[in-house]
Amino acid sequence: MPALRLDGKALAATLRQEIAARIAERTADGKQPPGLAAVLLGDDPASRVYVKNKRKACEEVGIRSWLRELPAETTQRQLLDLVAELNANPEVHGVLVQLPLPRHIDDATVIDALDPTVDVDAFHPQNVGLLATGHPRFYPCTPHGCVLLLQRNNIPTDGKEVVIVGRSNIVGKPLALMLAQKPTAKHPAGGNATVTLAHTGTADLAAVCRRADILVAAVGVPGLITPDMVKPGATVIDVGINHINGKACGDVAAAVADVAGALTPVPGGVGPMTIAMLLENTVRAAEALDG
Ligand code: NAP
Repeated sequence: MPALRLDGKALAATLRQEIAARIAERTADGKQPPGLAAVLLGDDPASRVYVKNKRKACEEVGIRSWLRELPAETTQRQLLDLVAELNANPEVHGVLVQLPLPRHIDDATVIDALDPTVDVDAFHPQNVGLLATGHPRFYPCTPHGCVLLLQRNNIPTDGKEVVIVGRSNIVGKPLALMLAQKPTAKHPAGGNATVTLAHTGTADLAAVCRRADILVAAVGVPGLITPDMVKPGATVIDVGINHINGKACGDVAAAVADVAGALTPVPGGVGPMTIAMLLENTVRAAEALDG
């Protein structure tokens, strides 16, 4: 039987409706609508598309959005001045600096300059530390999208073996922290799972992956995960976004659908969830100021 398709596009649409309802309620109460400022440096076409999609999603749910476009040759000082200006703007609840930045700018310095309370990507070291210690202010968007794909499809994580392939700061590492965490009312994305983080240094990647009840691929190598690496009936979350001949594909080979119990498609899996979680964090940032 082919794997159950974990439809991130449909779930993200449901979540956006829930977010829109929350925003309508707060504005009906006379509260300020949430606002997100996106900063885009240079003319990378992929970054431009990502920012456009994020702003469109904002507008659809009632989040005000602004785009601050700067030329590629903008200096780090000029960018830091813009970040300081946005940090101080009371209409801006979330600031998104689209990565990657041009080479002459240090990503970490720019992220450090964000006020952690507007860091809706949850990349600032203070937000990473809060997540690591089990007191998250914001969940990072892509890992949160993965957890909700499991939770809303009633796929239990408690006591399960999870293997995450890829240890980046934006996906693998924070997802491992979330799925290993004991869930609490303030940390509902805690998975209480036994988590293994695999990478290029992992000896016998196939054997490690086969242990997984839930296997997450966040690598960036098309088709890396093949059917022989998947335990029959396992849930497979494909975070990868790769392009072959202009067509999007993930890190998981198509034939895995014959072995897995459930699988996210690419496109239409984790990608739309990531954007929905950015909206969630922006609303949360506005709500945190309500008192
Ligand atoms: P990244 O920073 O490039 O990290 C890739 C990770 O994969 C590294 O930890 C690397 O190991 C590991 N890796 C690479 N080749 C491997 C191999 N052959 N065997 C085992 N591990 C291997 O990537 P990222 O930013 O996390 O992104 C990963 C993928 O997810 C990309 O395709 C990206 O486009 C996609 N993505 C999608 C979304 C979404 O919303 N759907 C969001 C973010 C990213 P080392 O650490 O040892 O080098």
